[in-house]
Amino acid sequence: MSDRIQEQYERLGISRSIYEYGAKIERELSERFLEIDRIAEFNQLKVIRAMQVHRVSAECFNGSSGYGYNDIGRETLERVYAECFCGEDALVRPQITCGTHALALALMSNLRPGDELLSPVGKPYDTLEEVIGIRPSRGSLAEYGVTYRQVDLLPDGSFDYEQIRKALNDRTKLVTIQRSKGYATRKTLSVARIGELISFIKGIRPDVLCMVDNCYGEFVEEREPLEVGADMIVGSLIKNPGGGLAPAGGYIAGKRECVENAACRLTSPGLGKEVGASLGIMQSFYQGLFLAPTVVAGALKGAVFAANLYERLGFEVIPDGSESRHDIIQAVSFHDPDALIAFCEGIQSAAPVDSYVTPEPWAMPGYDSDVIMAAGAFVQGSSIELSADGPLKPPYAVYFQGGLTWYHAKLGILKSLQKLHERELVNMDLL
Ligand SMILES: *Cc1c(COP(=O)(O)O)cnc(C)c1O
Repeated sequence: MSDRIQEQYERLGISRSIYEYGAKIERELSERFLEIDRIAEFNQLKVIRAMQVHRVSAECFNGSSGYGYNDIGRETLERVYAECFCGEDALVRPQITCGTHALALALMSNLRPGDELLSPVGKPYDTLEEVIGIRPSRGSLAEYGVTYRQVDLLPDGSFDYEQIRKALNDRTKLVTIQRSKGYATRKTLSVARIGELISFIKGIRPDVLCMVDNCYGEFVEEREPLEVGADMIVGSLIKNPGGGLAPAGGYIAGKRECVENAACRLTSPGLGKEVGASLGIMQSFYQGLFLAPTVVAGALKGAVFAANLYERLGFEVIPDGSESRHDIIQAVSFHDPDALIAFCEGIQSAAPVDSYVTPEPWAMPGYDSDVIMAAGAFVQGSSIELSADGPLKPPYAVYFQGGLTWYHAKLGILKSLQKLHERELVNMDLL
């Protein structure tokens, strides 16, 4: 049987030596994979229970049009999300166009002129720089008179409690905590560490709102940030919780007050959550959430596999091969633009969609350097599907994530290594 599998890989361009190297790494990971499966099992049950408690029925899949009044599918889904993530309420909408939009919405609706926003975990995700106004931008929070303060993590990655205490002042209204590392090379925060940070902040200022950018973190652990004191979590449906099926959308879950504020900004003051046609996409939201725990498990296996595969070849990987996981992103620093590009070409060539195109670096809106992106996705830009991207600037790190199935993630990673090998950008003699 394994010979026949190897033959399939060969037909997809994977040489025997690369395949065998991958097989050896995979054999060593059986314990880790088992642990990932256990978390998926836990989260699968959590999702099913939430759907049962809120009596999801076939009627929920009927979309609404126009104003979308009394949309039982939309209302039930928002209760299911709230239940699943342990919030009082949730806003889950196709009208939230992406993760950045969801975060901008949460911030702009919960902050008022004169308030201050604090990030105690360093620089936020690139696209938020324009939302906040760190880089001047039309319509930023800065233009509305919301100021921003940032406390960087200490060199060892720990929280700078002393500076955080000093940064909290009378105007601090909201603290934003990014769970995932994004395009930084710091470590992703575990839910437990997020809990410690929130306890510290609430110990000084109990009334300050703690928001967590939950992108890429959903279902990676058994607990989510609302369970450790966060007031609001925010994410994208074309990442983890959409399970690869949601064609668009974002969510905000947490305190009723925070969610209501967001709804009044997304739609309009006075209308709030009452409007918003769900059109015909409710079934994909439900079914995607249902599949999300196992999809996330497949993506996690891919990330752990890539870490071990590249670490063994002498590359710097974050997280390293043996670390526990708190998001689905794997970074590999190549310190070489050609290697970054070869990696992305490998991922692209493994895709079910657009496998024949060659990714090229380009100036993407929202980012301050050229970015190369590889994705052959069913949903445009979906990064729960196998995808890789990296800014063309030192340390030439690729950020790799997703894979709707572990097998596809594995093929993509082997293809990336194959490309590096063919261009003599990797020293396989080390093995
Ligand atoms: C992806 C991501 C975002 C932005 O989401 P988009 O859907 O790309 O706009 C924000 N924060 C983090 C940590 C992310 O991973």
